Amino acid sequence: MRDTIFPALEIPETLAAGPGPGNTDARVLAAFARAGVADHMQADVLRGLIECKHMLRSLWGTKNVHTYGVGGTGFSGLDCMLNAILPGDTVVAFTNGTFSGIDCLTIRMKAATREDMAANPMDPRPASVTIITVPHGRSVTGEMVAKVLADKRPKWAFMAHWETGSGRVNDLQGFSDACLAHGAMGLVDAVSSLGIADFAIDDYPGVVGWASCPQKGVLCLPLTYAPVSFSDRYIAEIRKTGCASYVHHPVLEARHWGVIDGQDVATPAYHRTHSAYAIAAFHEALRITLQHGRAQKARDYAFHEAALKAAVIAMSCTVTSNMTSLVVLNLPAGLAGREKELVQKCRAQGFGIWPTLSEPVQVRIGILNQLSQAAIAEIVSRFAAAMAEMGANVDMASVLAGLETYYTTALAAE
Ligand SMILES: *Cc1c(COP(=O)(O)O)cnc(C)c1O
Repeated sequence: MRDTIFPALEIPETLAAGPGPGNTDARVLAAFARAGVADHMQADVLRGLIECKHMLRSLWGTKNVHTYGVGGTGFSGLDCMLNAILPGDTVVAFTNGTFSGIDCLTIRMKAATREDMAANPMDPRPASVTIITVPHGRSVTGEMVAKVLADKRPKWAFMAHWETGSGRVNDLQGFSDACLAHGAMGLVDAVSSLGIADFAIDDYPGVVGWASCPQKGVLCLPLTYAPVSFSDRYIAEIRKTGCASYVHHPVLEARHWGVIDGQDVATPAYHRTHSAYAIAAFHEALRITLQHGRAQKARDYAFHEAALKAAVIAMSCTVTSNMTSLVVLNLPAGLAGREKELVQKCRAQGFGIWPTLSEPVQVRIGILNQLSQAAIAEIVSRFAAAMAEMGANVDMASVLAGLETYYTTALAAE
């Protein structure tokens, strides 16, 4: 038999205007390509890991020693964090969209006993886990969390900070307060908020574990690291109970980032083979974010998201999200039911917007690393053109004039 060899793979440049991944900065790609081949114990690679660890502490706003990156995607970091949950553990977990829904599945898998697993291997339902489903388009509130934690008194509580499936911001303060009040250890999926929202995790002592991703606010898709941070309370628990993973072990994985026996050390220890290219890219992405500044970046996202939101409302869409990196909307009545068709049409033309991945079907338009008037105008005109092509009554000139007014008024006010 002859080998099948395909032509070299060409991937086009698209306008990544979805919930993630965001457009990777040219500086990050250059750092990736510029790095020499050097092994995972070479001095500059190790220095890079240690410098990334310190920059991550700034980005997360924390003194947590166990702050580092887990090789892989957002779910890799979440897997590491959720490894603290052992079979039979009591958990209360909230879901209000696709991603927290998947996290709840991970939690049920981790908390499942052998019997739970055998009864439903792909979708175990351990009795020790309570899943609270908040309707799509609504946020998890502190009152909801407090009520269930008071009743169930679980060991662990879980919530997504920003649920990207529905574009909703959940109540972090309320969640942390409820965890403290009712003796639960809080775990948070901050995949979509880190690097976009202005928050410092040390302000939320009820939360002991945090996990994010490389491809959204941190903008380092060249597949790199999912930032995590664990409090001393979390680490003490893992040290006591152990966990069933080598590679995603919250204590062992930290060794390669120079955290050993709860201390920063100058000489990291081997955990796995880190890539010099990935470390160089991740390092540059963190430098870019910190140079921008957490607070300024958050203000910029809010400013440009407001412009996009006003423009789609001017096109008679209804917005149901409140995240600042993403607009989730219903099309006007005349196009209702044709969301997937519209999204497919846009995607076929290299305009990468998304539908929702769970019911109800809505359109999601994101602005990751699109923080300029020109970029927002491009997104708005492409979306308006696609709607018009499908027969919507869109006054393109007036929509773009409205956008122009928003920016000139804002600049004049400065
Ligand atoms: C994107 C996302 C994930 C999954 O991240 P991957 O990088 O695809 O693994 C998990 N949780 C939330 C809230 C997300 O937005």
